[in-house]
Amino acid sequence: MSGPRGDERVIDVVIIEDDDVIGRQLDLGLRNHGYRTSWHRTGTSGRHQVRERRPDVLLLDLGLPDVDGVDLARTLRAEDEHLLIIILTARSDDIDMVAGLDAGADDYLVKPVSTTTLLARLRAHLRRRPPVPHDAPPVRIGDLLVDPASRRCFVSGAELVLRPKEFELLLALASAAGVAVSREDLMARVWDENWFGPTKTLDVTMAALRQRLAAPAGGDGPPRLPTIVTLRGHGYRLDSPSPTSGTG
Ligand code: CA
Repeated sequence: MSGPRGDERVIDVVIIEDDDVIGRQLDLGLRNHGYRTSWHRTGTSGRHQVRERRPDVLLLDLGLPDVDGVDLARTLRAEDEHLLIIILTARSDDIDMVAGLDAGADDYLVKPVSTTTLLARLRAHLRRRPPVPHDAPPVRIGDLLVDPASRRCFVSGAELVLRPKEFELLLALASAAGVAVSREDLMARVWDENWFGPTKTLDVTMAALRQRLAAPAGGDGPPRLPTIVTLRGHGYRLDSPSPTSGTG
């Protein structure tokens, strides 16, 4: 049995959507293309299923009858950092979308979602989660260490826990330290090479990453950390910390 990734195993998707028409369309559209699905109309039932099945993907409507979709995204993200969470929002719910991404969702789709768009987005995300090359060397900048092999990040030896997209964003900037990286390049590298939609998800993830870098675990004195500089109209650049005397 071949799944959407060709010769690999079938991808398991849990759908939490209380709207009958939208839920059925997502469910059928995915099943017709070789995905295994499980559709739930309530957050409670869907959450149970995610814990039970450990699916690859969660499609999560934010407006649910029984629980808050953003809270649910946060809970399930905390339980499984590898679960691909895509939130479904109505066109007008900009604030919900940002809150959802902030809660740890990987991406969002605006309803009504066409099956073609959904499939394209899923393929892009699933393709993008390759095994990290084990021979990629760690990047060290000041007191920051980014290790692509273990996908871990350290500040002065203490682990700085990042969400998957925050890690990839930091890695993309750190591997090009001192060099301007365009928004388009970052979107392509961290999200989807065929990205053509809004790039708010980049802003949200960048803000979260900066916040984490601003408040790292304590050590002996303030750690020497790189700065992420915004280049208006272009993108970002990660600058090494300026050398200071007396650090050791
Ligand atoms: Ca709904």
